[in-house]
Amino acid sequence: MTTAPDRRFATLAIHAGQSPDATTGAIIPPIFQSSTHVQDGVGVMREGYEYNRSANPTRTSLQEQLAALEGADHAFSFASGLAAEDALLRGLLTPGDHIVIGNDVYGGTYRLINRVFGAWGVEHSVVDLTDAASVEAGITERSRILWVETPSNPLLSVVDIAALAELGHRHGLVVVVDNTFATPALQQPLALGADVVVHSTTKYIGGHSDVLGGAVVTSDADIAEKVGFQQFAVGGVSAPMDAWLTTRGLKTLDVRMRRHSENAARVAEALGQSPAVERVYYPGLADHPGHAIAARQMRGFGGMVSVTLTGGPEAAAALVARTRVFQLAESLGGVESLISLPARMTHASVVGTELEVPANLVRLSVGIEDVDDLVEDLTAALAGL
Ligand SMILES: *Cc1c(COP(=O)(O)O)cnc(C)c1O
Repeated sequence: MTTAPDRRFATLAIHAGQSPDATTGAIIPPIFQSSTHVQDGVGVMREGYEYNRSANPTRTSLQEQLAALEGADHAFSFASGLAAEDALLRGLLTPGDHIVIGNDVYGGTYRLINRVFGAWGVEHSVVDLTDAASVEAGITERSRILWVETPSNPLLSVVDIAALAELGHRHGLVVVVDNTFATPALQQPLALGADVVVHSTTKYIGGHSDVLGGAVVTSDADIAEKVGFQQFAVGGVSAPMDAWLTTRGLKTLDVRMRRHSENAARVAEALGQSPAVERVYYPGLADHPGHAIAARQMRGFGGMVSVTLTGGPEAAAALVARTRVFQLAESLGGVESLISLPARMTHASVVGTELEVPANLVRLSVGIEDVDDLVEDLTAALAGL
């Protein structure tokens, strides 16, 4: 750690793991685009670096930044969010084990658990994370992990991390929180009792839609040892350039999340006034079922807003084709605004399962453009739908 750990969030985001280059004084640590490091004798390494699947200085710098921002002792960065999840699950589970997941878990996480880990002999049950009785009913003797995602994708349901951590621990489970939507700027699951945080850093952490990445963050030494082994033994690591781009994005996370949250609140309010809109899903709205929990466990309500349209799936398809500032694309969390139709895009693979989402649902990743342009764009596109 290169920065006193008692610094505040926005300061840590800029300085943790980011001290100037020791040799040249370059204010920004260079990208160590190298696969190996010279040894001064057999096994005599400089700063512990040898072959870069085990460690690379640019990756170390990102990992220190991520650990500091989640208030954790350890972070491991990977080539994608799913590579990070795979390393965590493979580190913690053996065939025959069981995992409990929410009924609105991210589709890619579901596919990984259902198809990849299913084929490896790991079973799962799908529960309603907002209902403790449903969670309890999903736990079996072989359950090892309770997998929590809040706010969830795309319905933005919010669950009580502290309560679920307590419930999970009562049953001896490792409690994992996918913190991709909130980011540590808005929510710190480890402080609320979770054991592990996972991220798709592709989204808000990278923040500029120019790099894929993922992370596992924890203060549990045993879990860290297992994930570190998977990272080294399997090798799904983030490349130096990707790690560097992610450190660059992460430095502005605090200001970006404030602006995303402000813009999303205005967009949610404007959407609620349109007769073409049936329902707005945004945790910042007082009528959102998870509003009280979100107000307690989050520092802001984030940049994601979903809506269902009164005109059904046709109106939803028309809306995503009509916006001009909001561009039609998968993914989220970048500075630019995106719009998508989950049932036919990100969530097409879960149609017909318990994870199916409404066909008239539109998801917005509200960017940090001028909010008046965003509201005008949506108002014009909704007119007459
Ligand atoms: C995108 C995403 C992932 C997967 O991350 P990739 O970087 O795409 O592999 C996991 N969880 C959530 C909530 C996501 O949005």
